[in-house]
Amino acid sequence: SLADRLQETIKKIRGKGKVSEADVKQMTREVRLALLEADVNFKVVKDLINRIKERAIGQEVLKSLTPGQQVIKVVQEELTELMGGEQSKINLSPKPPTVVMLVGLQGAGKTTTTGKLANFVRKQHNKCPLLVAGDVYRPAAIKQLETLGQQLTMPVFSMGDKESPVTIAKEAVAKAKEDHNDIVFIDTAGRLHVDENLMEELEQIKSVTKPDEIFLVVDAMTGQDAVNVAESFNEHLGLTGVILTKLDGDTRGGAALSVKAVTGTPIKFVGLGEKLDALEAFHPERMASRILGMGDVLTLIEKAQATVDEDKAKEMEKKMRTMSFTFDDFLEQLGQVRTMGPLEDLLAMMPGANKMKGMKNLQVDDKKIGQIEAIIRSMTPKEKAEPDIINASRKKRIAVGSGTSIQEVNRLLKQFKDMKKMMKQMMGSGKGKKKKNPFN
Ligand code: GDP
Ligand code: MG
Repeated sequence: SLADRLQETIKKIRGKGKVSEADVKQMTREVRLALLEADVNFKVVKDLINRIKERAIGQEVLKSLTPGQQVIKVVQEELTELMGGEQSKINLSPKPPTVVMLVGLQGAGKTTTTGKLANFVRKQHNKCPLLVAGDVYRPAAIKQLETLGQQLTMPVFSMGDKESPVTIAKEAVAKAKEDHNDIVFIDTAGRLHVDENLMEELEQIKSVTKPDEIFLVVDAMTGQDAVNVAESFNEHLGLTGVILTKLDGDTRGGAALSVKAVTGTPIKFVGLGEKLDALEAFHPERMASRILGMGDVLTLIEKAQATVDEDKAKEMEKKMRTMSFTFDDFLEQLGQVRTMGPLEDLLAMMPGANKMKGMKNLQVDDKKIGQIEAIIRSMTPKEKAEPDIINASRKKRIAVGSGTSIQEVNRLLKQFKDMKKMMKQMMGSGKGKKKKNPFN
């Protein structure tokens, strides 16, 4: 698979202290093959590879301290860029109702996504949606949307299957105004293949409802075909976004990589299951990392780099190595970790995070950190530097001072001891490797 191949290549290059031009060429060749195999559009691959080569052979990488890591970062950034840079939001109309039209081939997930999206904007944006049953051709399509409406306790506008979808859409928007529904989702009919009649009808719906968003719903499993579909819908309707469904399945990922590049239309949301809450905003960066098979480790690295001052990190590393790491240092590290965001999030981004969470003495809980800080602040300078002197009476004083209990003080002392032991191991095994934060 794409991920496997890329990972193989990455493994080879990751730890390299020096990357030669030949290394870069070898790697880009692998990346190129992997992408083509994953059904990514040929021209897209060619452009991408050229950009990667240019950057990777350039100063940016060869001059950096960790060229292997840097090459991977370049690939990741370029993949992210390819998928559309930053994530996008729904374009809400200043004059409600906002009209959102969902189009796509049969079975792509339009009707399901209509429900998911309405659920999403109601929760995230506090909106009051109206669902519109605009598929009058497929048997039971109206009923399907009505059922979703019931599950969501959300109104569904339908006029049966005798009226034209154009009339239905027009009436629905009028009804939304009347009932003060501030966003309208129009579910439309699909075909097995793109055809002119379908396009004409969709164009008419567009012209009578003036949608703020026209989302193409694409099944991620359809690979390269998804790109062709997107291209032709875009030509006719001028899409404003793409929603990639069924990413929970065993997809090849090629669609995600090419859709934006080919149509100029960003992927805005992804469907991750059949349930009504299985919809997420699309994060190109996360997707790129996932494709590279590294969890969000690069995001983590960047965050750590931005937060932890380089010199301080070096100093800390020295302290860890010489085992002169004190509770004061610990406190400072906690502060730095905190500014990076909730620990849960940080941990979730790391490969092998699950294993870590299971480690009994390294449980991370944001609330606990406040407690830990209080305990450390209740220690005297000497106690912080030499925790071994903390006897029973000192423990009692610290517990009272921090508003915790002796057990909690004991637990922290034990954790600190374990942590030092772990640092010693890390430092011993990873000679020369950089360890920038205590969880890395
Ligand atoms: P439509 O013809 O485009 O309206 O497609 P539907 O909304 O009826 O969906 C077709 C099938 O795909 C249904 O069985 C849905 O439950 C399923 N489906 C839609 N989105 C997703 C998704 O993100 N993940 C999974 N696993 N199934 C989905
Ligand atoms: Mg449908």
